[in-house]
Amino acid sequence: MREFIKIINYKRLSSVFAVFLLFILLCISIFSGFSGNEADQPLAKKVSINSSKITNERPDINEFINSKIKLTLKSSKEGFLLEYTEIKNRTYYEIYRKIKGESKYTLIITTSDTKYFDETVISGKTYVYKVRAVLKQKEGQLNGKCSNKVQKKYVRFDKNKKMVALTFDDGPGKYTKAILKCLDKYDAHATFFVLGSQVNDYKSAVKKADLIGCEIGSHTFDHVNLTALSKKGIKSQINKTDKRLKAIIGHGATLMRPPYGYVDSTVKKTVKKPIVTWNVDTRDWETRNASSTYSNVIKNAKDGSIILMHDIHGSTKKAVLKIIPELKKQGYQIVTVSELAEYKNIQLKNGKVYNKIK
Ligand code: ZN
Repeated sequence: MREFIKIINYKRLSSVFAVFLLFILLCISIFSGFSGNEADQPLAKKVSINSSKITNERPDINEFINSKIKLTLKSSKEGFLLEYTEIKNRTYYEIYRKIKGESKYTLIITTSDTKYFDETVISGKTYVYKVRAVLKQKEGQLNGKCSNKVQKKYVRFDKNKKMVALTFDDGPGKYTKAILKCLDKYDAHATFFVLGSQVNDYKSAVKKADLIGCEIGSHTFDHVNLTALSKKGIKSQINKTDKRLKAIIGHGATLMRPPYGYVDSTVKKTVKKPIVTWNVDTRDWETRNASSTYSNVIKNAKDGSIILMHDIHGSTKKAVLKIIPELKKQGYQIVTVSELAEYKNIQLKNGKVYNKIK
């Protein structure tokens, strides 16, 4: 009998406990429902609530949320190479692309690599890219982080047709944009050897040049004769210019053109970029005459030529607006110095001097 009572009590006790447990569970679900349903909370706050919920399962979620993805784009003859920051803990990356002017992005690939080569681009079109890192969580929830957007025009050239490189020193200046507009119209590229001291005054021109596929080289920070400087002085001229360019276009200068073409062994050893001089000198800065600049280029241009001009003179701008269509008419492709080298299968070396590329 005693034992029977014991059993009864035990059963009662356990049913009370079960009701209590149900009550606790109900409370938990109500509370968590409240915290998740505040619709007017800003998005950032919502993300932080999600992260604190998951912290116990995935202690690395905060690292994912706080990391930044930087996307850079390199143009090559076959297409665009996209490179982006390795994000720890990400499950995969999504790469989005749109043609400039379109409203919506298209997801072009899902990948776990930190590089992607897009060769499905069409010559003459401008593309906008962004990359999203995705972290898949245990509940099937997804967390995403987007990179910066990068846009660039793609132009495909024919390696079997003749090519020239138009190069402009001492800018950017007030005529640079008009030159860029003409280059863009004819799907042509040029190389601008800029002065670091000038770039902040013409940021939009520098951006536009990069966007339409032109190349940005360095012409030092303030137009100094590099052979008169110490190693430290040379480095400072280059680094200061690169730093400013990086803030505008996301990367430094790819090439170096020494002012006056002055180079010695110290300059070659210290400049960690290919050094580009010229083999067609228009003397545009001296003549300041559009027709003389025009005829100089048209008479002397050959396949592989590197042509020197200065985008800070009105007469040069006037000449260039005629030079570009005329060179195209003669069958020339107007390319950057690096494109000239790439299409002619020449690997440009740091510290080496090039006055033409054949
Ligand atoms: Zn110069």
